[in-house]
Amino acid sequence: MRPATKSARVIDRSGDPHRATATPIWQTATFAQESPVAFSAYDYSRTQNPTRTTLEGHLAELDGGVRALVYASGLAAVAAVLRRLAPGDEVLLHDDVYGGTLRLLHDVLAKQGVLVRAADLRTEASAAVAFTPRTKLVFVESLSNPLLQACPIATLARLAHERGARLAVDATTVTPLLQRPLELGADYVIHSATKYLSGHGDVTAGVVVARDTALGDELAFLQNAEGSALAPFDSFLLLRSVQTLALRLERQQQNAQVLAEWLAARSEVERVHFPGLPGHPTAEVHAAQASGPGAVVSFRTGDAERSRRLVEALRLFRIAVSFGGVQSQASLPCRMSHKGVPAAVRHAREFGDDLVRLSIGIEDVRDLLDDLEQAFASSARSCETPVVFVPPSKNVTGVADVAR
Ligand SMILES: *Cc1c(COP(=O)(O)O)cnc(C)c1O
Repeated sequence: MRPATKSARVIDRSGDPHRATATPIWQTATFAQESPVAFSAYDYSRTQNPTRTTLEGHLAELDGGVRALVYASGLAAVAAVLRRLAPGDEVLLHDDVYGGTLRLLHDVLAKQGVLVRAADLRTEASAAVAFTPRTKLVFVESLSNPLLQACPIATLARLAHERGARLAVDATTVTPLLQRPLELGADYVIHSATKYLSGHGDVTAGVVVARDTALGDELAFLQNAEGSALAPFDSFLLLRSVQTLALRLERQQQNAQVLAEWLAARSEVERVHFPGLPGHPTAEVHAAQASGPGAVVSFRTGDAERSRRLVEALRLFRIAVSFGGVQSQASLPCRMSHKGVPAAVRHAREFGDDLVRLSIGIEDVRDLLDDLEQAFASSARSCETPVVFVPPSKNVTGVADVAR
């Protein structure tokens, strides 16, 4: 079966004797036993729950892994993979990653003695020299958030394995329908299921899919030991959403391509980050390992104030963190999702205060174009009114102040 068919066809894995076509919500904490020494498949929902088991099996199959584990959020999924690092071990990451992942690495893991090393991992040459004898895990986003950069996954897997390290790929922005990192040699694939897999902005969830049984069993042990699993109702919502992923994504990608080309032709736009545009620096790397560019587009106007006015003038696009939903959204990453990334780090990476990130939904693309058109026009008109721009927060540790 091809990926779109697989995603639409959920196979029950709960042992439901009634063969319900929609997997039920097994809203129970415990399962009664015949006797204190007789155990069946389920005893306690922290360990295993039939709704979750069906979802995990479905997601493992979509990504081509041996086992998937689902968590209460994408960050809980990232944390589960980082858990196997001990003090003195090093994680080597590509230097464009989600703000929340950086917070977890710098404000939690680094304080427990894990070494965090960021480098440019977009080419074999730059990646090969970034390893140290302590590197145990390589972590990249494919595509990266918010600059939509691609790293060569098969190459990184080879470099990591030659050095006794593992490769984790956070593929939230592309989904298993566009890219399957495990088939390219990665050891773990991670998704924030809050984004495309859910697609409706109504659940926070995360997934890790493991390449082999040993890694899968280790994750399952931790999921039970730490109690981080996704609840039955949220598992049901996600199971329902994944069935329409192919349709949603197809429309979202088509819309994104039209909008990215339109933006690239605007004189007010300095630079568009979208791997579906020929000028994109890692478009070729991405095209060789994925079947589509996704539907997140980011761009710069060269002026933080203008970007802010532009986003504020949008009517159809909602101003919101997150992406991947059926409704289009706009954000200023430096003020929102990546607020915790220090300005100096961001500026070194072409990620300015003027960066606008658009998540393209399933609306009629003509309405989205009209909205952008009117927002560009009205933000140009309001240029005369000075608005004070507050620089991004210097507080990188305060919980309330950093990336959500
Ligand atoms: C949103 C996001 C996460 C975190 O997921 P949550 O579900 O918000 O916890 C991790 N990685 C990437 C690339 C993301 O975009």
